[in-house]
Amino acid sequence: MKLAIFGPPGSGKGTQAKKIAGRFSLRHISTGDIIRENIASNTKLGKKFKEYNDKGLLVPDEWVFEALRPTLPKEKFILDGFPRTIGQARMLDTLATLDMAIMLKVSDEEVLERISGRRVCSSCGKIFHIKFRPPEKQGFCDACGSSLVQRKDDTEEIVKSRLSEYHSQTKPILEFYEDKKILYYVDGEKSIEEVFSAVCFFIENSISK
Ligand code: AMP
Repeated sequence: MKLAIFGPPGSGKGTQAKKIAGRFSLRHISTGDIIRENIASNTKLGKKFKEYNDKGLLVPDEWVFEALRPTLPKEKFILDGFPRTIGQARMLDTLATLDMAIMLKVSDEEVLERISGRRVCSSCGKIFHIKFRPPEKQGFCDACGSSLVQRKDDTEEIVKSRLSEYHSQTKPILEFYEDKKILYYVDGEKSIEEVFSAVCFFIENSISK
């Protein structure tokens, strides 16, 4: 089974991808993780990735593909964060035929609320949310007591620009998979477990066909 999961920033696709990988014994492949590993190990590709990653920009298609290609197994995987452009979708198509593309639908308003309310501990990195997971003492970390900060790319203005880029890049990808009749939409605004059961339902149905 070869799957890909899509969704706007903050849609919880990483969380779902891990759960799906566990349930169906798939390899979870996150291009974000591959890119960060290359940067951390200072590989030749990592040096190229760094300047894009630091600015929150998409890495050019050919380079992401070069990093992804050796890790793509012949069977059984779930892609998380790839393809992110129509060019990448076409490149992937030359290597593997996806069985399902799962799209987590989350409105822009919900994304804005989820991301702009996120706060991170300046010391230990623990993540809070002013509405959904508030700390016991406002502005301070429950775990270590240090002050909470907002990441630069979590501010409303930047989230809005990330969202507009996301929509323009994702639309043609969705059309591509819609044409292949393998695109499934799931309401991503429900709880983690509800989203997971909806996704499992689609996958199990597709297996039993
Ligand atoms: P993520 O962890 O998926 O949010 O990815 C983090 C960063 O890695 C992104 O902001 C991009 O700079 C880069 N990245 C991850 N996946 C891709 C991709 N498929 N194409 C281009 N850049 C990517």
